[in-house]
Amino acid sequence: CSKGRRGGRGCRSNMGESGVAAMAVTYQKFDPAAYLQYNYTSPRADFERQDSVVPWKLACLHRAFTEGDIEGDLLIDVGSGPTLYQVLSGCEIFNKVLLTDFVEANRQELKRWLQGEGGSLDWTPYIQHVCKLEGRSPCTWKEKAARLREVVSDVLPIDVHQAQPLAPEGLPPQGADCLVSCFCLESVSPDLDTFTKALGHISTLLRPGGHLLLIGALQESYYLGGPDLRIPVVPLNEAQVCAALQDQGFSLIRLEVYTLPQDMKVGVDDVCGVFFVKARKILKEDVRATR
Ligand code: SAM
Repeated sequence: CSKGRRGGRGCRSNMGESGVAAMAVTYQKFDPAAYLQYNYTSPRADFERQDSVVPWKLACLHRAFTEGDIEGDLLIDVGSGPTLYQVLSGCEIFNKVLLTDFVEANRQELKRWLQGEGGSLDWTPYIQHVCKLEGRSPCTWKEKAARLREVVSDVLPIDVHQAQPLAPEGLPPQGADCLVSCFCLESVSPDLDTFTKALGHISTLLRPGGHLLLIGALQESYYLGGPDLRIPVVPLNEAQVCAALQDQGFSLIRLEVYTLPQDMKVGVDDVCGVFFVKARKILKEDVRATR
């Protein structure tokens, strides 16, 4: 790595590739039930608390989807994992939602819920909470659950490290109208360069002018994907997130930051905060105008 700039670059790129390969092996041991237990139960998902992280994420998503600028037919959630919270607001706007993940066990977990078989976590309090955000009675949660089951048309394998992350069959050639992705890119990338490239790869799934809602960890170096599974994370700050978005042709609409209260640090990761980004994929004519 010390033989000048070109050698150095090649070395970093090789390190990125071997890091990605190591990540792929690690993720085969991902334990959906444990991950849900660590991150999607109290105190992180306490709907009675104003400062709990899950209600914060749901509020960000609700606001973003109800401002009136996000519309279209197809929403894709990138790296869904075993979770559904991230599409509870979007499923009211879009007639077609695709869930995606790299790990078969996560896709199976989602399919079980979609087929009405229940699963490792009861999503009812989440659905009730989003009903409340939408000004509906929490009693209407069954209608919302039915709506979600109706609009999710598939749960597909994805790899954000591929230039074409999803198989193109069945996708509109112009791309989806909106992408959501939560805690995926930084949790699967060994370094900032790989994170930025992965953002560029998922951008190919989005039509120009379409919206990206990105949620992720700030200053996190690892999280637990199971009782004995420590998964490395690329530690990010807000400036790096903004630079990556600009680099990959997104214009930032809003970035919000949540700082983790001390009692939300429950020993399952070393996350310090969470960012929420609403951005838009720049139209080709806008790119030309800014040159
Ligand atoms: N979106 C969920 C959430 O908000 O909790 C899950 C996030 S979890 C930290 C990271 C997810 O990325 C896991 O579900 C994992 O299976 C998935 N993943 C791992 N490697 C991936 C890859 N190469 N491409 C896309 N997703 C990947």
